[in-house]
Amino acid sequence: MTVTVAKIEVATLGFPRIGPRRELKAELENHWAGRTDAASLHAAAARLRAANWAWQRDRGADVIPSNDFSLYDHVLDTTVMVGAIPPAYGWTGGTVDSATYFALARGTQATPDGQADTCAHGHAHAHGAGVPASEMTKWFDTNYHYLVPEFSADQVFRLSSTKPVDEYREARAQGIETRPVLLGPVSYLLLGKARGGGFDPLTLLPRLLPVYVAILRALADAGAEWVQIDEPCLVLDLDDAARAAFVQAYAQLGAGAGEVRLMLATYFGALGDNLATALSLPVHGLHVDLVRAPEQLDAVLAGARPDLVLSLGVIDGRNVWRADLNAILARIAPAVRAGRTLQLAPSCSLLHAPLDLDRETALETDVRSWLAFAVQKIAELAVLARALNEGEATVREALDASSAAVASRRTSPRINDPVVQARLAAEGPTAAHRASAFPVRRAAQRARLKLPAYPTTTIGSFPQTPEIRQARAAHARGEMPRADYEAFLHAEIARAVAWQEEAGLDVLVHGEFERNDMVQYFGERLSGFAFTRHAWVQSYGSRYVRPPIIYGDVSRPEAMTVAWWRHAQSLTARPMKGMLTGPVTILNWSFVRDDQPRETTCRQIAYAIRDEVVDLERAGAAIIQIDEAALREGLPLRRGEWQAYLDWAVACFRIAASGVADVTQIHTHMCYSEFNDIIAAIGAMDADVISIETARSKMELLDAFVGHRYPAEIGPGVYDIHSPRVPTVAEMTALLAAAAARIDADQIWVNPDCGLKTRKWPEVRAAIAGMVEAARRMRAGD
Ligand code: GLN
Ligand code: ZN
Repeated sequence: MTVTVAKIEVATLGFPRIGPRRELKAELENHWAGRTDAASLHAAAARLRAANWAWQRDRGADVIPSNDFSLYDHVLDTTVMVGAIPPAYGWTGGTVDSATYFALARGTQATPDGQADTCAHGHAHAHGAGVPASEMTKWFDTNYHYLVPEFSADQVFRLSSTKPVDEYREARAQGIETRPVLLGPVSYLLLGKARGGGFDPLTLLPRLLPVYVAILRALADAGAEWVQIDEPCLVLDLDDAARAAFVQAYAQLGAGAGEVRLMLATYFGALGDNLATALSLPVHGLHVDLVRAPEQLDAVLAGARPDLVLSLGVIDGRNVWRADLNAILARIAPAVRAGRTLQLAPSCSLLHAPLDLDRETALETDVRSWLAFAVQKIAELAVLARALNEGEATVREALDASSAAVASRRTSPRINDPVVQARLAAEGPTAAHRASAFPVRRAAQRARLKLPAYPTTTIGSFPQTPEIRQARAAHARGEMPRADYEAFLHAEIARAVAWQEEAGLDVLVHGEFERNDMVQYFGERLSGFAFTRHAWVQSYGSRYVRPPIIYGDVSRPEAMTVAWWRHAQSLTARPMKGMLTGPVTILNWSFVRDDQPRETTCRQIAYAIRDEVVDLERAGAAIIQIDEAALREGLPLRRGEWQAYLDWAVACFRIAASGVADVTQIHTHMCYSEFNDIIAAIGAMDADVISIETARSKMELLDAFVGHRYPAEIGPGVYDIHSPRVPTVAEMTALLAAAAARIDADQIWVNPDCGLKTRKWPEVRAAIAGMVEAARRMRAGD
């Protein structure tokens, strides 16, 4: 069946940067702490790159990327390449040194522990004094975060980095011919923002393009035959101006690039209504994501110029599952039959996948047999290419082993839990409804709780001190017996409860000292989840996460939080909140199984959390908070798909929340400040109280709630927990007054923006004392 003329090649679009033992993190942190100089950091980075190139070559990649490596972030690297450094960083031209680079990445005023400042969910935030770090935001719908370029209306661009050329030459000196990667000019501008607003960054395109032409020429001069140019924005909703920008940009790059050929890479979704634009561009190759959007292959084949090299993204670059290679061969057969020049590739850069499964020796054997990390994915591609180039018989065993692994996953009793499946099938729509509407519940809850006006509370976590981390680590290593660990945590809880009573808080929390992470804690206690030792992926800069792997039907073998809650409540007469992570957040911060819809997996988690909510109620909890920090993060890239997602996400939250009686008050918490788009969904969640992040927006975002007549109670954060700075009582009172000018006073709760786990106790004590005083002033009308 192989009728192609050219050999089918294996290409990778990008590779994990962090190293098998997180070497990059250690090198960066040593450098930031002043223990190493820039030269030694760069030498370490070069060692990592060399290892990455060798790894890809040895596993069978024919087309290997360079310039995909970054010390911090590839969007920041692009900002440096085009010289778009905002004036505040004092850069005066020439090559950007590492001090300026890291100032953009992290700001110049580090917090006392030497880390970029983070909030409880681990996202960094710039703050206060010094040169602030650049704003950071999610890279499309991944959990990677990039540094947002910021442009002025009179922005000048000039080529200010030789990194792409240097790294191309570096690989060549090691005998490895690479395809350098650039973030394309249109996506780069679309991902940036106008300083102070007022103009569209795309209007800067004519000024930016000469820099791209110059770098392409420099790469051609160095010997590069191909350059991969990433334009992931081609899978987003674009207006005509943006589509026209692609046409303009690639006409100029195509004409100016000289001999070098461009592989235009799109990923994270279907080209959809941008397909005609993409196919019209004068490039030599096009990469399409056939994992997220397998259906687009036919249209791409029908519309692509015969000489256009097609790179087929057939292996999931951002999940952890081993592929069924026979199924892929069947799926791409039309492309092979068409006799086109093809490359086989992961769907997107492998940046979003963990590095090497071989290191996970502690995983259960069967679970392990279902997985493939970055290096294994390259090997999978090599098998596919060999099947097509040399005949399937030459790799029959490998092909069939892959299908067998997928089949064993489908049928395994570890994945299929008939009880969970039956429960999902049987539960009617009432599972997602509280017994009564909010006004009825509110009356019942008020009669029970008898809280003052402007009730005060916190979001859940208190500072995770070095002692707490040490104890948890010692317990995990088996060096601290369970009884000792529990006694230690009980003492921490007792201290926290006593302090909260003294501070005058109305609704208390136990402090979440037992939790390493708001998702991991629950994942470790649910069935259907696996945890790895080494499967880190970059979240941003030197911060890596190790998401749980949801491989099977999810259930809750036993209560997860009730004992801690019971202990905490036993120490006080005031209401102690039960504290849980919601199903949508658990889903969005995990690697999710790919053999059933995400919605189904989320519903299973929702029932498991519902069981915990019911158990907390039974134990006596009057208030239970279900955090949905990542609900907004799960929004699909295309607006047309938002409603379907929000419908099931809201339904899952409601399943989790609706097993309790009217008198039990359900809180939720969302630590972000963009609600306009999703306010109807927030209302539909039907929580009794929601706490949100508002301290930095001066309560303006409450307008969304007002406009939508949000009926329930709201705790607009009055304390920006991302900064070590302690707000004054006057500031917090002013914020509450601003809130009271927008919503009814009896709707308002008083709380910080988010959990306090990244803060230090002295700051927390001072800030919370001030917050309680601000609430007292509001009650007294002072
Ligand atoms: N209850 C969690 C905490 O306080 C909430 C964290 C979050 O929303 N990111 O840490
Ligand atoms: Zn939060």
